[in-house]
Amino acid sequence: MGRDRNKKIHLIERANKRLLGESEMDCPKATQDLELNTKNRDKSIDADYIKYGPLNLSDDEYWEELADHWNTKVAVAKKSLCGNCVAFDISPRMDDCMPGQVSDKEGRLGYCWMHHFKCHSARTCRTWAAGGPIKDDKVSYEWQEKNKQS
Ligand code: SF4
Repeated sequence: MGRDRNKKIHLIERANKRLLGESEMDCPKATQDLELNTKNRDKSIDADYIKYGPLNLSDDEYWEELADHWNTKVAVAKKSLCGNCVAFDISPRMDDCMPGQVSDKEGRLGYCWMHHFKCHSARTCRTWAAGGPIKDDKVSYEWQEKNKQS
């Protein structure tokens, strides 16, 4: 109910912005194309320099390996999550791009601008960087623009 109401408000706000001539960008492809999302997610799980995970949040081995990789303690590694990564986009416009439910009891989905799939706030990867999440539409559009140029 709350989410539907918020979504309606955001849709109205975005329509107003369009009327004022502000630019609007399409949703990232992977939010609309399940096959592409799955392909990008699986690549991110397999690639040694990314290793998105863990699939099972209580997989101690994953966290130990990540802590080793970062040369830190497991407790510290567990604080560097998609949920606070600079590339994790949970802006209102991105929520509008997400088909279906975004939250579960462990956290929520957001869009990863580094690896281009819907990742989960309670997981992480080896390319994590501090400074997130992205909460503003303006910052979200800036990431999209940067991705277009690269
Ligand atoms: S949001 Fe950050 S931590 Fe999560 S998969 Fe993307 S780059 Fe990795």
